[in-house]
Formats: sequence, C-alpha cells, structure tokens
Amino acid sequence: MADLPRGPRTLLRRLRELMAEPLEPQERLDQIVRHIAQNMVAEVCSVYVLRADGVLELYATEGLKKDSVHHAQLKMGQGLVGTIAASAQPLNLSDAQSHPAFRYLPETGEEIYHSWLGVPILRVGRALGVLVVQNKERRTYREEEVEALETIAMVVAEMIATGELRKIAKPGMELDTSRPVTVDGDSYGDGLGLGYVVLHEPRIVVTNLLNDDAEHELKRLNEALGSLRISIDDLLSRRDVSMEGEHREVLETYRMFAHDRGWVRKLEEAIRNGLTAEAAVEKVQSDTKARMIRLTDPYLRERMHDFEDLANRLLRQLTGYGPKGGDDGFPNDAIIVARAMGAAELLDYPRENIRGLVLEEGAVTSHVVIVARAMGVPVVGQAAGVVALAENGDPVIIDGDDGKVHLRPLPDLQNSYEEKARFRARRQEQFLALRSVEPISADGVRVDLLMNAGLLVDLPQLDGSGAQGIGLFRTELQFMIASTMPKVDEQEAFYRNVLKNAAGRPVTFRTLDIGGDKVVPYFRGAEEENPALGWRAIRLALDRSGLLRMQLRALLRAAAGRELKIMIPMVTAVWEITEVRKLLQKEMEFLSSRGYELPKSLKLGAMLEVPSLMWQLDELMAAVDFVSVGSNDLFQFAMAVDRGNARVADRFDVLSRPFLRMLRDIVRAAERNKLPLTLCGEMAGRPLSSMALMGIGFRSISMSPASIGPIKAMLLGLDVGKLSALINSALDDTTSKTPLRETLQHFAEANDIHL
Ligand code: PEP
Ligand code: MG
Repeated sequence: MADLPRGPRTLLRRLRELMAEPLEPQERLDQIVRHIAQNMVAEVCSVYVLRADGVLELYATEGLKKDSVHHAQLKMGQGLVGTIAASAQPLNLSDAQSHPAFRYLPETGEEIYHSWLGVPILRVGRALGVLVVQNKERRTYREEEVEALETIAMVVAEMIATGELRKIAKPGMELDTSRPVTVDGDSYGDGLGLGYVVLHEPRIVVTNLLNDDAEHELKRLNEALGSLRISIDDLLSRRDVSMEGEHREVLETYRMFAHDRGWVRKLEEAIRNGLTAEAAVEKVQSDTKARMIRLTDPYLRERMHDFEDLANRLLRQLTGYGPKGGDDGFPNDAIIVARAMGAAELLDYPRENIRGLVLEEGAVTSHVVIVARAMGVPVVGQAAGVVALAENGDPVIIDGDDGKVHLRPLPDLQNSYEEKARFRARRQEQFLALRSVEPISADGVRVDLLMNAGLLVDLPQLDGSGAQGIGLFRTELQFMIASTMPKVDEQEAFYRNVLKNAAGRPVTFRTLDIGGDKVVPYFRGAEEENPALGWRAIRLALDRSGLLRMQLRALLRAAAGRELKIMIPMVTAVWEITEVRKLLQKEMEFLSSRGYELPKSLKLGAMLEVPSLMWQLDELMAAVDFVSVGSNDLFQFAMAVDRGNARVADRFDVLSRPFLRMLRDIVRAAERNKLPLTLCGEMAGRPLSSMALMGIGFRSISMSPASIGPIKAMLLGLDVGKLSALINSALDDTTSKTPLRETLQHFAEANDIHL
C-alpha cells in the first residue's frame, strides 16, 4: 500500500472498496475522510451534511477535534461551509481566516489551519452537504485537486442519497433529503391525492461510479456520443420535422451541445479522474445544473432543460435504461411528477393507479391537463423545481384545490389531509347516492345535467356520475393523442363505441376543433401571430373539407339507425352552417347510394362562442336544430382575455353583469325560437355559476363528470323561481354597485344552498 502512487485514481479505488465493505455508516464515513486526508496530503478532511432545518452539521472529520462531530454546525449561508452550500460553488483559499465569511468554531480547533478547500456535495444540482480539506501551510490547491475533491464528493452524495447516513442522524435532526417541502403551483384540476412520487422520467441512478480502466470508459463515452449525435441528425432529417419552428430549434440546440468541445472535455476529464462514463455525465450535469439553477432568463432556463434532456439521453445510452425504467414496483397510489408531458404518455400509465399529476410547466388548457381532468385526478401545474426536489417513491400529497404539492409531508399534515380526503369520499358517496335521482329543483324545475367527454376512458363516468348524456364530445382529443391521422374506419369504430356505451342516452359530437392551442402532431398550419383568432375549428375544416367530410362520414356510419347529433365549433357567421349542411347532404347521398343505413334522425347544432352571433341570434337559430354556448371561448372573446394566460384569465368575472346579460339574451332568443339550448363551458360545473345559469333560464348544461354530483345536490335544494326573480332584477338594475357574485353568494347562504 505504501508505494502505491498517490492521486485521485488510487483514492477512488480505495473508496470503492470501502463502499463495498460491511461497515457501519459512521465507520465508513470516518474511514473515507481519513483516506482523503492521507491521499491529498491534507491535515484535515471533514464532511458536513445538510439537515432538514437548513443547518450543516459536521458528520465526520480527520484532523479536527473528534468530539466536535455531530456538534459543530453552521447555518446555510453562514461561514465558509454555509457559503459553499448556498452557492453550490467550491472555495479555494490560501488563508481561510482572512475571508470575510470565515467563522471560527472553537470546538473544532481549526484555528491553526490556513489553507482551505471546500466543494459542495451535489446531487441533481442540489447541495446535500460540503466536503472540506485543510492544511496548516498557506497554499492554493491545484485545479486537479479541486476536480478530484469534487469527484470524491459524488461518492459521499451517493451515501447521503441512498439514505445510509439517515441512520446516524440525531433524532429530530433529519437530513435535508428527507425534509418536507411544499411546492406552490397553480390549480389545474380539483381534488386531493395522497400517494407516492413516480417521476415521469426517472432519474437514472448511477450505481457504478468508479472505473477500473479509464481508456475503456473513454471509448464507451465516445461511442455513446457518436450514437447520440447520429440519433439527433436522424431526427433532424426526418421529414415530419418542419424546416422552421420550435421543434427544429430545440433539436439544433441539442446538436450544438452534443458537439460542444467544452462539455466533452469536462466529461473526459472526469473519466481520467476515475469515474465511469455514466458517473462522469452525471457529475458534469450536476455541476452545470448547480451553476444554471439560479438563472432567471427564460431563454437560458429553456436551454438548460435542453441540455438536461441531452445529458439524460446520453445516460440512457450508457446505462441501457428505458424511458420508463420498467413497470415493476409501480405504486398503487401513484402521483406522476413531470417537467412536461404529452397526453398520450399519461394514458400509457395504468390508469386505476394514478392519483394525481404534477407538472413543472404546462398551461391549464394543455392537452395533458384536459386528459388528466377527464380522468378525474387532481392536477397542479407550474410547480417550479418539483422534479429536482422529488425522489421516486417519496410520499406526496397533491392538493389540486389550492395548487400545492407537499413532498414528504409531516405526520400532522398527512393526518389532516387524510381527514379531508375521508370527508371528500363521504361527500362523493352522497353524490353517488344521487345518481338515479331526477335533476329537479325544490320548486319543480327540471335542469338536464350532461357531461363533457372526449376519450373512451371518459365513458364509464356516464354511469358513474349519473349524467343524462354527453352534451359535448370533443372529437379532437382522439386526433390529438394519435401519432398519425385516424382513418375513417378507425373514427367510425371509435364513435360507434361511444354510442354503444351511451346506451341510448344522447351524445352531441362536436366536429374537429383543432388549430389555435389545440395542436395535432401530424397537421401543422403556418405559425400564426394570433392563433386564438386564427385558422382554426370550422374555418380550417371548411378549407380542408376532405378532413371534415371524412369525419362526417364516420359519424353517419357509426350512428346507422340511431339518433345523431353533430355540433360545429367556433361558428362566426350563418353561412358556415349552410356550408356544413351541404357537405352533410353530400355525404348522406353518397352513403345511401352505396346502400349504407343512415341515422334515424340527424340534428345539426352550432356552438355559440364568437360574439358576432349575438346580433344574428334569430338567423342563427333558424339555421340549426340546437345551440350550445361555449362559455370558455365566448368569455375569452367577449372580454378580450386569453383563457390560457394566468395574468388576465381571472381578471374579469363570468358572474358579472355584462356577461350574464349576454347569456340571458341567448336564453331569451332560444325561448323565442323554441330551440333547445345548452351551455358546455367550465362555468356549468362550478356550483355558484351553475346556480346563476339556472337563474337566468338555462334548462340544460354540460360539465366535467366529477361536477355532476355537486351540481345536482345544489339543484335539489334550489328554488329556481325565487332565484330568477332576484337575478333578473339585479341584471336589470343599472345603478347598483354591488357585484352580482356577492348577491348570488348572499342568496345561497340565506337559502341554505350548499355550494
Ligand atoms: C368552450 O369554449 O366553452 C368549450 C366548451 O370548448 P373548448 O373548451 O373545447 O374550447
Ligand atoms: Mg371552445
């Protein structure tokens, strides 16, 4: 042993042996610091570990006074150790005591040491502790020594992350990795979920840290980089990657990183210092992330994500990890945590096990969120940093009502949420008991309660919720989750299945509402400056009439011998309906001529989402068999507020006089024209706004299935006549300063209406 050459490789080899020996955690850590000190010719080597309370505690030392272990401590940001942990950057000082942050800890006896080198113990860019070496003489540690100590810190990081050091934590002084954290986000889907974290892209755990043969590892790295570059070039040359646009830009950035000499040099250096190729990728990724984590520039942050994705791809190449890491051990109560994900990826998970979805990014109208809501699971979006803070298998509570995610919750919080969840479950049971109760108000007014749907997974909810039918079937969802355009036969089979499941209950199919924010992967229009007002829905469908005709044909065939209800989205002018009727007529003639059975009855309706229809209500109603108000879009266009932009979306109230007067005008026109009317936007599913809709005369509304129970419970106790009188006089009053929402809330309280 004595003549072995010094240097990081020898040390790492020795550390690997130590990691494999059956030692108690304290003994292992003591030996680690002893070997580091010997090898680096340092008089002191110490490990500080970050506790849950933000204090760095001395866990082991060679050279400082032994009885200061588990006593000496510094707060995050305090002293040199705290500065390193807070900044996640090394400090290399020839005279530590003259540094302004230096703090003398008398119990350690460190006053005689002058030179000081400390590095953060990092994992996924997060500091878990600090590793320090000290010498009496004044010297500056060489760059290779800093690198070497950083590499060794990875080994210690592994001991902390695997939970080994938890065993020697003092009671009540738990480590930071078990710290409860609450991440604030936005509520994208109501409800509570208690379960365990499933990282959508599981962090690849590199267990094989130290190499035997650096040349062999360099070769592996080069091969993996080679395949990575080829796979990116392949992606870029694929025809479905358009010549411009965001997707291409991201791939170009990947290519740039994959060829980046600086990155490759850092990786090679880490291998020469003794790491395996995969451990080198992890180390460089962690260092980069620690440096970039504080960036606020959104462009650079996005590039950081690109870089991480690339490093993860490389790790997968080197470790042979699949994107989902296998199904074994998938928890029964899974809360999926992802930076971002597609709707189809969510549907790949075993649905019955999913209790919630947490996204670092996303918008409330993104497809994955619509699908998650349709599944009835709570969703929290914009939960900054959650992926780095969560580990697979961590206990977690998702509070979709308040937009909060509680990672590793303390028992008190856990208990109070369990109580809340029980309360909800009891309410759910009460709603369930209402399933077969007729939706009739206390004063005898019937209001049909329908549900919104879009995928086969929604259909069991028809029975589960007690909805009377499907008031809005968003057909575009099937297109959005498919990787290629669904063929006519596939569409037909799908619609047939929907009708079969509905078992005679009415279903209103809305024709494709794509464009705007609803992106279909294989159908890209040109970039638009203002997509919400752009080439979308029926506008696009009339220009690409082949697409619409195929859909109409599939619907007509699927509804052979039954009732078929078709609804057109985003109608702006009556002639659009006339055009669709012509197409429908042609399709029916085509099918009859081929001997197909046609639907027993056909009803064509329009969605009222564009304010221009307000001044042609009678003409509109003469042209269709029914109207359904899309209040999400109608509100967006009437108030000029982007429904997906959190800054403005909640600025104005759907329960304000102008919007409710608008809706009341629609009700009056429908009464005048004796035309069936429904409303299918989100407001139908919220008790107070739903109550208001009943008050102004809506007798049919469609909502997410989870809302049917609560809305029915509200309806059963409501005196619609009394409410109508109040709301109509409040809407006619042009002098009142009282917000209508307040008036409605008072009414609910005074009349004991449960909202
Ligand atoms: C609406 O706009 O209110 C609506 C129901 O349609 P979507 O949410 O699909 O745009
Ligand atoms: Mg709409």
